[in-house]
Amino acid sequence: MEETKRRGVRLVLFPFPLQGHINPMLQLASILYSKGFSITIIHTHFNSPNSSNYPNFTFVPIPDGLSDVQDSITDGFSLLPLLNLTCKVPFRDCLVQLLSNAETEEEHIACLISDPVMPFTQGVADSLKLPRLVLLTSSVQSFLAFAAYQVLRQKGYLPISDSQLETPVPELPPLRVKDLPAIETQNLEILYQFVDSMVNQLKASSGLTGNTFKLLEQSALATFTQEFPIPIFTLGPFHKLYPALSSSLLSQDRSCIAWLDTQPPRSVIYVSFGSLASMDEDEFVEMAWGLANSKCPFLWVVRSGSVHGLEQVEPVWPDGFLEMISEKGCIIKWAPQQEVLAHPAVGGFWTHNGWNSTLESICEGVPMLCRPSFGDQKVNARLVSHVWRVGLHMEENRLERGEIERSIRRVMVEKEGEEMRERAKSLKEKVEVCVRKGGSSHQSLEDLIAHILSF
Ligand code: UDP
Repeated sequence: MEETKRRGVRLVLFPFPLQGHINPMLQLASILYSKGFSITIIHTHFNSPNSSNYPNFTFVPIPDGLSDVQDSITDGFSLLPLLNLTCKVPFRDCLVQLLSNAETEEEHIACLISDPVMPFTQGVADSLKLPRLVLLTSSVQSFLAFAAYQVLRQKGYLPISDSQLETPVPELPPLRVKDLPAIETQNLEILYQFVDSMVNQLKASSGLTGNTFKLLEQSALATFTQEFPIPIFTLGPFHKLYPALSSSLLSQDRSCIAWLDTQPPRSVIYVSFGSLASMDEDEFVEMAWGLANSKCPFLWVVRSGSVHGLEQVEPVWPDGFLEMISEKGCIIKWAPQQEVLAHPAVGGFWTHNGWNSTLESICEGVPMLCRPSFGDQKVNARLVSHVWRVGLHMEENRLERGEIERSIRRVMVEKEGEEMRERAKSLKEKVEVCVRKGGSSHQSLEDLIAHILSF
């Protein structure tokens, strides 16, 4: 079908309101818009995306009810079940209104695309006879680990006990118990129920689109296809398939690009732990000294909330640290990350291994120093260090400065790091093969379009 004929076919997308989920959803929206679909984004007031960056999309806010239940948000996880509860009625009302408008305007809403962590949207879509596609914003491998929760519980791997940390999990190679995507919460039963519902509602969906690519996750994709009898379309990395517009919730400090321009090729370690991960003050101090003592130039993102207990105030720098680093370090609150990773001066990425950060690093052939914090990050770190072998996993939670300094130098200047960089370069080449015409991601996009048009 000609692209122009797809105008009149509208897709409704509903991102989960956290940075790492909003970015791929808006990237997917941009890809599908470029292919001729009209786009509506339903979004919560909480962390609402900047609509002015997307003048061609229609943005529809819904009340998320979070202010009424704020006291129930006791940990990072509790936001998920809460939003699934509080959004249900406003989301349904909004969708009913959109469907009725579409009828009046002789437009066709082909489907809903939503996040697996919003399982309630499957029931709403079913009740309105609207197909739902799921956008997986994590790696397929980490999703499989969540999907295996019941088995992992039956076999005694979950909840994780300290005595088993190093035990391999043969059901999910090459993960060990300590790599499982455990989530700290005061209510494990609610977590297990939530994961169950996420998995079951994915099975009930009309298909999955993934921000990953076949050459990266071949064996996980084979397992997924066996366990989930739904069509799957892997068209990642999205931002390489179609140039990404900014969907950053924080303003990006571009002054770091001018600083990077002054640094020698592949000399800088870029340090950022994404939008949620945080550390305690002791670790922050060790990190600062480890970076300074490594003698490598560094670009460090210290956003508000990076250090526990200092959410609203500037971190207190260790005495003498700022004087010691002078021109060697550039510290900012939020970076234009994709541009930073593509800069020739960047030679390594000290990351928390959120899936977007991991993919963005792979796309630019940048080796990683992995310090995962929670959830899927641990699975990703294991893949980076032991499957793709493009990074070094810093295993301990509380690292001291000598160890940090050594790890940085291993990645940045030693032979080991050089070998990781070579492998990262070859992964980058695979990305290029997948997204070009005839490549698997390019083809998956065509298949996805045909699938949507078949609804
Ligand atoms: N990001 C950014 N500037 C920063 C740090 C991160 O724009 O200084 C972006 C990054 O490019 C990525 C997203 O924020 O797309 C973070 O997603 P990820 O899945 O890596 O981690 P999360 O924030 O969900 O833990």
